Amino acid sequence: MSLINNAADDAVFMRGESVAELWVVLQEQEGLPPEYNQEVLAEAKEVAAQYPGQLQLCAVQLRAPLSSPVEKSTVPFFKAVVPERLYVLEHPALGRYTTEGYVAALSWLIRERTPALIVTSATVNGQDWAPRLAAQLGLPFVARCLRFALEQEALLALRALYGGRAYVQTRTRLGRQPALVTFAPGTRGTPPMTGSPAVGLPMPEVITYQPSLAFEERNPSLQHLGIEAPSAEEVELEAAEKIVAGGRGVGREGFAELAAFARLLGAAVGASRVATDRGWVEPERQIGATGKSVSPRLYIACGISGAAQHTSGIREAQTVVAINPDRNAPIFALADLGLLGDAREILRHAMQLLQEESVGV
Ligand SMILES: Cc1cc2nc3c(=O)[nH]c(=O)nc-3n(C[C@H](O)[C@H](O)[C@H](O)COP(=O)(O)OP(=O)(O)OC[C@H]3O[C@@H](n4cnc5c(N)ncnc54)[C@H](O)[C@@H]3O)c2cc1C
Repeated sequence: MSLINNAADDAVFMRGESVAELWVVLQEQEGLPPEYNQEVLAEAKEVAAQYPGQLQLCAVQLRAPLSSPVEKSTVPFFKAVVPERLYVLEHPALGRYTTEGYVAALSWLIRERTPALIVTSATVNGQDWAPRLAAQLGLPFVARCLRFALEQEALLALRALYGGRAYVQTRTRLGRQPALVTFAPGTRGTPPMTGSPAVGLPMPEVITYQPSLAFEERNPSLQHLGIEAPSAEEVELEAAEKIVAGGRGVGREGFAELAAFARLLGAAVGASRVATDRGWVEPERQIGATGKSVSPRLYIACGISGAAQHTSGIREAQTVVAINPDRNAPIFALADLGLLGDAREILRHAMQLLQEESVGV
């Protein structure tokens, strides 16, 4: 689904200046896959490219002073997409995430620079500070976009509703003030960060600020007590990056092996309706037309035939692996990789390989 974007010289967000700024606020958070920042950068770069020379892609990093030099810590992090400019906001309160620290620091920088658009990933923290910042400054805000674009006088955004069963396109009229957007994590499916930093690409101009911020640093009204992450297999299916799902072909006993394999892989457990109807796994784990719609990076279907009512729930999965002894099973038509054989046997073998790898055999 694409958004129509009419780039124009006299777009309202230009505000008569030669170059407007599109910010990506980088997020650091324990357990946060670093590619979440990368995918927002990639999406924002496409939006900025609609206005060459007029809209500048900038990254914003919040951190404590005296952290390691940006050139060594942050800049190497830019792989496929390098922003033109990196704003580094330093304050003792920004050493770890606090709602008020982020809101105060970003409010300060917004007043200083007045960007056209501010984007961040809709992570736990992103969903916390972004709406508060928008409310405090009275800025337009669109949450959990799958795509977004700027047109002459508006921000266009595509969002999913009802767990991905419907889409809505919104048009937010822009004034002279910035707008804020959060981007649904995992939407672009940016590849994991491997390899070396972008080679041969120009490095960003780095501008560091050390503002004095007016907020109650010692006695914040909101306190971050910590994040308790569920084990990967218990992760909500809609949020799971990897899913191992089982159907009739796995059988009741096979589900214990399937869950052990999922645990080893750091994946959530899913199921076909046959498996949930028979009580092999909880009803919340059902995927499909009358279950959940999922969008993992990896979906491993074990002993699932691939009925339309099931596959309608995995349309957004990026890579599908199917294990089934029946070469005519419909699931193979949409699988990226098909393994012909008994699911339990193949899972046992895969588990052994994973275990050997983890102990370095
Ligand atoms: C209104 C409606 C709504 C529905 N909603 C959903 C829904 O939300 N989700 C859903 O999943 N279904 C739903 N269904 C049911 C759907 O039509 C299918 O019946 C169901 O998905 C089939 O589940 P399955 O693939 O586990 O079983 P089957 O279709 O019976 O397939 C089992 C597969 O296992 C394979 N197999 C056999 N032995 C092995 C082995 N040793 N190792 C590996 N593979 C093996 C077989 O070759 C076969 O392909 C719905 C149906 C209706 C009518």
